[in-house]
Order: sequence, then C-alpha cells, then structure tokens
Amino acid sequence: MRSSGPAILRDIVLVGGGHSHVGVLRSFGMRPEPGVRLTLVCTDAHTPYSGMLPGYVAGHYTYDDVHIDLGRLAGFAGARFLCAEVTGIDRVAREVQLRGRPAIPYDLVSINTGSTPQMAAVPGALAHAVPVKPITGFNRRWLALLERVRSHDGPMVIAVVGGGAGGVELLLAMQYRLARELQGAGRDPSALVFHLFTSDAHLLATHNPGVRARFDAVLQARGVHVHRAARVVAVDAHGVRTEAGEQVAVDETVWVTQAGGGAWLRDTGLALDASGFVRVNAFLQSVTDPAVFAAGDVASLEGRPLEKAGVFAVRMGLPLALNLRRALQSRPLQAYRPQRRWLALVSTGDRYAVASRGAIGFAGAWVWRWKDWIDRRFMRRFSEFPPMPAAAPAAPAAPAQIALSQEESHQAAAALAMRCGGCGAKVGASVLARALATLPPQHREDVLLGLQSPDDAAVVRIPAGKALVQSIDFFRAFYDDPYLFGQIAANHALGDLFAMGAEPQTALAVVTLPPGLDRQVGQELRQMLAGARAVLDAAGCALVGGHTGEGQETAMGFAVQGLVDADLQGMTPKSGLRPGQCLVLTKALGTGSLLAAHAVLSARGRWVQAALQSMAQSSRAAAQILRAHQASACTDVTGFGLLGHLVEMARPSGVDVRLDLGAVPLLDGALDCIGRGIVSSLQADNLRARHVLRNADAFAGQAAYPLLFDPQTAGGLLAGVPADRAQDCVAALRAAGYAAAAVIGEVLAAQGDPAPIVLAP
Ligand SMILES: Cc1cc2nc3c(=O)[nH]c(=O)nc-3n(C[C@H](O)[C@H](O)[C@H](O)COP(=O)(O)OP(=O)(O)OC[C@H]3O[C@@H](n4cnc5c(N)ncnc54)[C@H](O)[C@@H]3O)c2cc1C
Repeated sequence: MRSSGPAILRDIVLVGGGHSHVGVLRSFGMRPEPGVRLTLVCTDAHTPYSGMLPGYVAGHYTYDDVHIDLGRLAGFAGARFLCAEVTGIDRVAREVQLRGRPAIPYDLVSINTGSTPQMAAVPGALAHAVPVKPITGFNRRWLALLERVRSHDGPMVIAVVGGGAGGVELLLAMQYRLARELQGAGRDPSALVFHLFTSDAHLLATHNPGVRARFDAVLQARGVHVHRAARVVAVDAHGVRTEAGEQVAVDETVWVTQAGGGAWLRDTGLALDASGFVRVNAFLQSVTDPAVFAAGDVASLEGRPLEKAGVFAVRMGLPLALNLRRALQSRPLQAYRPQRRWLALVSTGDRYAVASRGAIGFAGAWVWRWKDWIDRRFMRRFSEFPPMPAAAPAAPAAPAQIALSQEESHQAAAALAMRCGGCGAKVGASVLARALATLPPQHREDVLLGLQSPDDAAVVRIPAGKALVQSIDFFRAFYDDPYLFGQIAANHALGDLFAMGAEPQTALAVVTLPPGLDRQVGQELRQMLAGARAVLDAAGCALVGGHTGEGQETAMGFAVQGLVDADLQGMTPKSGLRPGQCLVLTKALGTGSLLAAHAVLSARGRWVQAALQSMAQSSRAAAQILRAHQASACTDVTGFGLLGHLVEMARPSGVDVRLDLGAVPLLDGALDCIGRGIVSSLQADNLRARHVLRNADAFAGQAAYPLLFDPQTAGGLLAGVPADRAQDCVAALRAAGYAAAAVIGEVLAAQGDPAPIVLAP
C-alpha cells in the first residue's frame, strides 16, 4: 500500500499476466515512472512460459522452473497485483470490470490474455477433449491427464488434434513422459498409442520442408499415427471423427488447434478480427480506442497477421512498455516491428531439439541444451532481480511529462504541500460522499440512526434480553489491494465477536489514506469500503459510521459491536477450557512470516495468495460450527500468535494444555520462509512467551516451532471442544471450507506448574 509521497497521477491497468506484460513489469521495475501506478490483474499468481512447457510435460523441469511468479515480479515493478478475473472493460467509465469485486479505474489499459480454444464449433469437443489453451489452466489439465493415464488399465490411445509446432512438440513430450511413467510402474510402455491429426497437408505448416521432414521421421520412428489433411469434426467419449468420415477410437483427446480471443472481449465494443482477437495498429494500440493496448496472442496486428506464438508476445513487451509511457506523456508512439524470421527451437521430448529459422534447420541433443540455456536465462530475468534502487527521496511530484488538467495539477501540488492536522486532516467530504454513494447502507431494525440518515453519531438499540459486546482493531495495510485489505481488516475485527459467541450488530470504520488526486483517493476508499462491506454484510453487521482521515499510510480498522444473551449463556469466553477437551484450530498459521517475506520479495506468489485467501475467509461459519459442537471456550488467533493466545485461555481456565506440534496446520510456504529466518517484526516480542512452555528446549530446534509465535492477521478460531465431538467438529469445519481445520492438542488438568503448556510431537 502507498505511503504518502508523490501523488499517483495516472493508472495503467495490465489485464492478464502474459508474455508481453511480464516484459512491461520488468521495464517499469528497472525504470519506474513517477506518478504512474501499474496494476496487474491476472487469474493466476504464476504464469507459464510457453517455451519450456513441453520440457515440463516431458519431466525435465519443475513447476517453478517454467512459471513466472507474477506476485514477486509485480512487487519488483512496484505494481499492484490483483489475483482476479477480468470480465469486461467499460470504456466510457474507463473501468476494468472484475469477477466478484468492484471495477477498477484506468487511464490506459493493456490486454495480454492469450487465447482461448474455439472448440464450441466441433460437436463433443468441449465435453470430451482436453484443451491445451488457455495456457494458464494447462498445468491442472495436464496433471489430470497424467493421473488418468496412470490409473488406466490396459492399452491407451491418445489423440492430439493440431499439427503445428505446439501440437507436435506436446505430443512428443507426452509420449516420452508417459512411457517413462508406465515403465516406472512396471507396465508396458507400448500400451500407449498416439494419433496426431492436422487439417493441413503437412505437419508444421509454417516451417521449412527440411524441418518438416525431420519431424516426419521422428514421428514415424516413435510409432505415432499421423493423419494429414484430416480435420477433426466431432469428438465423443469413444473417439474422434474426421471430415472425411474416418472414425478413430481414442481414450483421451488433447486439443492444440487455433484459438480465439476471450468471449468477454466481444462486449467491450473494441474492433476484433474474425477470430475475436483485438485489432491493433503498429503501436499495439486498439484501432478503436487509443486508451486500450493489446499484445501477444490476443492482439491482431493490422496488415501483418502473426503466428500465435510466445516469441512474438515476448518481443512485444518492450515496445508496449515504451508506448504506455509515451501515451501518458502525449508523446509520439513507436511502431512495433515484428521479426520477419525467428528462431524456433522445437523439442522432441527426449532432450533433443530441432532448430528452424526461415529456410534453415538443424538438430541435435546440443540444440536442446542450447534451448535449455536460452530458456533458463530468459526465466532468470523474471526471478532474479537487480538490486532495488534505494528509496527515492520524495521527488517533486508531478512529473512534467504527464499531461494534467489544471484541476489535477492543483490537487497534485496540494497533495505534496504541508498538510493540516486536526480536522483539516479529514478526507474531503465530496470524496467520502462519492465513495459511500456506491454502497447503499444496510438495513437493521435495531439501527435507529445510521448511514441512511447520517448524523453526528449513530444510534443503535440494544434489543431486550441482550448485552453488548465491543471490540476494536486497526492496522496498516500490508498488501496493495484495497478491496482485499478491506475484507481482511473487517474479518480481523469481527474475529473477536465470533470468538465470544456474539452476533455482530454494527461497526464503525476508521480509515487513513495518503493525500492525492481526488479521483484516486476516492477510488481507494471505495475499494476498501466495498471489501469491508462484503464481509460485514455477510455477517449481518451494519456499518453505521466512521472517520476517514489523511495519514502517512493506508490503514483501516473497525470498532465492532455484537450481541449476546444478557445472561451470558452461550458465550464462549477464553476461560472456558475444561480438562478432557480437544483443542480445535480452524485456520493454518504463518501469515506473519509470509507477509514479511512478501515485503522483501522472498515469498512465492501462490503462497501469498493462499495466505490472503485464508485471511479473507470469514470465521462466522466456523464460530457457528464450534458452538454446535459444544465448544465452551474460544479465542481468535491474531497478533500474539498461537502460543500467546493459547496461554491466554489456559491460565484463566486453570488448566494445562498439551499442544501437538506436528498437528498444527501451517500455510504453504510458512516453514520455508521462517526456516530462512524471515519473521514478522512482532516475532521477537511474541517469543518472550516461550516461558509458558514446559519443555521448549526439546522442541526449539524443530522447523515448525517458531511458527507458534508467528503473529496472525485475521487468523483462525481456537476452541475447546468435548473430545467425543472433536472429530465431527473438524469434519464439519472442513466441509464448510476451513480446509486446514485440525485438532491440535488436548486440555489437561492443571498440575500446578507455572508453565501450563506441554509440547508433544
Ligand atoms: C504446449 C504449448 C507449447 C508452446 N510452445 C511454444 C514455444 O515453444 N514457443 C512459442 O513461441 N510459443 C509456444 N506456444 C504458444 C504460446 O503458448 C502462446 O503463443 C503464448 O502463450 C501467448 O502468450 P500471451 O502473452 O499472448 O498469453 P499467455 O501466455 O496465454 O498469458 C495470458 C495470461 O492472461 C491471463 N488471463 C487470461 N484471461 C484472463 C482474464 N480474463 N482475466 C485475467 N487474466 C487473464 C492468464 O492467466 C495468463 O496468465 C506453446 C503453446 C502451448 C500450448
């Protein structure tokens, strides 16, 4: 999240983390553009590098060898990374629409979403064939296919539809890998039969005859049945049928043919070509709208149709980055000139490759090693970053080049000027009003005066027979996604109410935001409030007021109020643990270490996304399930870490506790990060609680031990549940989506030792 400094003047939104956008991100990482904020929106935290995919399939590379970590790359670029799906572009409002969350504004938007298979036209293909594209889902589909082949008994026939370089290379890689899998399992690899279908007269139609002849020979030697001029027109559960009426019995069909643009592009009003790709001029700019750029497979270059290949997408990255900068500065754009000839290194699965460039072709194991060297060097560009420049001193804000309106110049200068304190530090009324206007107030019978008719304060009735439960939480933003941050901040605050067994009633928000252009500050606020409202609404909690001020950093917190029965029956206080109960934890640990690692670009994107999803998961259903299984004590695990919160339960309950270290659920990557010594700044304080462990020395060397002290943001609930209900309780929690829920120990009768917690393996 942003600290105060030069204001953000312009927003560039990158849609899709394809081969061109990774180049744009790297370029902005190397040379930031003051005043420009980049936001990358992509469905996945890791994007595959197409050149190495066949090697991955063949088993020569790991997942991480062939995927670019978009989270880390965005971090290096100083860009926001939103792991989300783009569903449209509203070009009038200049907003990118996202699935399941509010749209985000742009000044320029660039699309690099690859291609989507056009299988709908072939009856049965959608239901019975495995599409290789979109490339992003490829790994999941490949692992599923691998599993099917492993568990398939007897002979197996696999058809690959598509005779371009992608189809041929993929087939040979699959054949190599699957044969080894079968051999490894003691099965006969000749049980695998491959068919390759192409609608063209030749395989590799865009390559020279020499290269084609080499592949014809390889395919023949490897026993592949090649069907030329054989367009597949139907697929069913038993096989494929060609245009000429040939029926081939097949167990699995893999689809690697031409694809089109995503369906959502049709509603953008942008000019598209016949396949649904965005028509762009030589500057990679939509021919319809100068604020929209496109690159890679999704772009259709006017007057120069290009093969849909990663080599072009990669080469578009730099001109695209340059043109995005120049477009904001109203400077002339630079034309992208596609290479007339390019070197294709097509592998045969067995660490052998064929080089093809124009009329030239050569092959050998050395060509594969050369390709491997080129590919790995390429990947290092996106994983090994040059040292980050020392934090830039607060530069004079408005970069002269960005064309600003008079009003914007005034707001940008004001954002840098000395800011007032006191009430002068409130965010402007119009900004706040516009943000709130997008979020109609919730209705609750017991809210007498809330945001429907805002007054100096909210007025709320406490229903008869109820008592009020109150709590407050507030923290700095730790991840640059205001919607997600709003969700997590609200979740974190509500966790206290859920732990008490209270029904959330109302919330008051307090927000600080660095000053900036009204439009940007308003958008930031709107996103944060929308995220928070999504959580509060789901919990039946009405947001009845708050305060929004300027601050050094983005921060958000809530004072929350909930209701319990006035006789306090049904409450689950910390002091309610009883000997014989099992300890149940609803979420995995590790957010502190993972967020610390994220801040220094040392956490993998998928770990961070999984941790964020865990933090964004409400504990509401968990609290209900725990109560339904007769939990008598509960707390939410937050800043003091598991051990700190556990001792807060054990001591007032007058019990001892056995904590089974091996049973404590951990977030992916948490062990890795803490093992490298990456800890939250609160860890040292939390470690002081180790004296509550009776046998710390016996476990201090274990990898998971430091995570007992890891501070959690929006962590899980920790509860004491009767032993005979504990397994059912965990099963119910898992069924409700708390996949990491586990029994992590047992409550014991107190033995009078000042250290009430005993660790067990
Ligand atoms: C098996 C195989 C092997 C190949 N080998 C080669 C090769 O060796 N050399 C070569 O040049 N080409 C190869 N290709 C072709 C190559 O994969 C594509 O040309 C290339 O991936 C296109 O890159 P791109 O940047 O346009 O998009 P992609 O690489 O497809 O990236 C698109 C990105 O956008 C994201 N995205 C998509 N839709 C949305 C949305 N709605 N919202 C948010 N994010 C979205 C995706 O998650 C993905 O990260 C191969 C293809 C396959 C299938």
